[in-house]
Amino acid sequence: MDQDPYFYMFVTMEKKECPSCAMEIEASAKVCPICSYDFPATPKWQIGVALLLILALILWIAL
Ligand SMILES: [Zn+2]
Repeated sequence: MDQDPYFYMFVTMEKKECPSCAMEIEASAKVCPICSYDFPATPKWQIGVALLLILALILWIAL
């Protein structure tokens, strides 16, 4: 084994554990290739709505 440890670290960082079958799979995978578990993705609009609510709350407190 003469693999670059930094390369190995990079590779392992790009993995995530499936909560359903506990297997290491691609971090970018949206569906587990082993048990086809569907990873819940956070839609961008939900983050936007949350930020707006926080902003509204801050303004409401300030006024
Ligand atoms: Zn799985």
